[in-house]
Amino acid sequence: TSDAKTGQGFKSHDMLAPFTAGWQTNELNPLIIEKSEGSYVYDINGKKYLDALAGLWSTALGGSEQRLVDAATAQLKKLPFYHSFWNRTTRPALDLAKELLELFTARKMAKAFFVNSGSEANDTQVKLVWYYYNALGKPDKKKFIARTKSYHGSTLIAASLSGLSALHQKFDLPAPFVLHTDCPHYWRYHLPGETEEEFATRLANNLEELILKEGPETIAAFIAEPVMGAGGVILPPAAYFDKIQAVVKKYDILFIADEVICAFGRLGYMFGCDKYNIKPDLVSLAKALSSAYMPIGAILVSPEIIEVIHSQSNKLGVFSHGFTYSGSPVPCVVALEALKIYKERNIVDVVNKIAPKFQDGVKAFSDSPIIGEIRGTGLILATEFVDNKSPNDPFPPEWGVGAYFGAQCEKLGMLVRVAGDNIMMSPPFIISPEEVDELISIYGKALRETEKRVQE
Ligand code: PLP
Repeated sequence: TSDAKTGQGFKSHDMLAPFTAGWQTNELNPLIIEKSEGSYVYDINGKKYLDALAGLWSTALGGSEQRLVDAATAQLKKLPFYHSFWNRTTRPALDLAKELLELFTARKMAKAFFVNSGSEANDTQVKLVWYYYNALGKPDKKKFIARTKSYHGSTLIAASLSGLSALHQKFDLPAPFVLHTDCPHYWRYHLPGETEEEFATRLANNLEELILKEGPETIAAFIAEPVMGAGGVILPPAAYFDKIQAVVKKYDILFIADEVICAFGRLGYMFGCDKYNIKPDLVSLAKALSSAYMPIGAILVSPEIIEVIHSQSNKLGVFSHGFTYSGSPVPCVVALEALKIYKERNIVDVVNKIAPKFQDGVKAFSDSPIIGEIRGTGLILATEFVDNKSPNDPFPPEWGVGAYFGAQCEKLGMLVRVAGDNIMMSPPFIISPEEVDELISIYGKALRETEKRVQE
């Protein structure tokens, strides 16, 4: 029988069974998380897990940052809600916009627009870019170029931009105005004898070819995560973004940086754009913006875009876009407090201090016969399981190698992200050296169990 309190025994055809994202089977028996404390979460039975993914790459300050709770509580008492429509807004929304525009220094940004999630941020980007090109008198610039294996969200437009087939199949996506170009994963896609630099050049040439084939006058913007997250923590070659930006600039195409995972210190820089010297026209933010304590996302917009929009808005009318909770004061004060903490604690230094222990500790397992590549930077990392150490020799999917590793971690008290035979980790920035030791110890034990299982 189903137990509404614990969720144990629920079947997905039970009226009360919860839907979980990515549910696939009729047997639904979710792990129910009940509370969090620092780098740990606890399930409904009191079992403790090291949260090696920080929720969904998001709880940067861990699960019990009292200052975020206090900020939300005080704001709930003062003004729980007001909107940001028709030239009305709230103090927290204005303050947060100001803070974000100061914090982002890869290039000057002029305005922030608030949303509730990364997906909404990217949907907003598409609409804003179209609006901008209409204002510029170039309404034919409609197409977006994204990359294979990228993840930009789950709404229809964000899923279209994403380059993961599971998000397209059976949904009639991607939308016709979205094109995909190469994923910059050197280990998997380089040609024999090709250097990283040559690989980056080839990808930039392919992008240029695609633009010329489609007609540059039809291409509106290029969107990229500085480091691809959900697609498998894919770090581009050092020269990649310089070459890509040169192509995009040449053809008058906007650059959207999807910083939803990378921003606020994850890569050991305040923004992914800082690490790769990206000078975007638009930026998408979410997740660690509020350390995920409240749903909030934002886009940052360049002065050049704002100038065009302002100069033409009388003709075009207002940018008719926004959500009830855009700039809602409670998420905004939580984000403001998170940014304050990042500054006070020099969060980038905090990440850079702990990152080598994490990266070196996990990468020490690279010799395992079932591991093809361990890749990462800062506090983000993926392990890819393959046979013969070759990207061309995946294990048969029915072996479930990644899933087995993930299950071993869970048994041993650690939560990771499993995507096929990719295992991803992005611990909270507050993870302590002892907790990193624990993470590595559990990883090692789970790996040995998985090696045994593969050899059986
Ligand atoms: N963009 C990136 C790079 C992401 O990783 C995600 C979510 O993981 C999104 C966008 C979508 O964000 P959300 O789930 O808040 O809609």
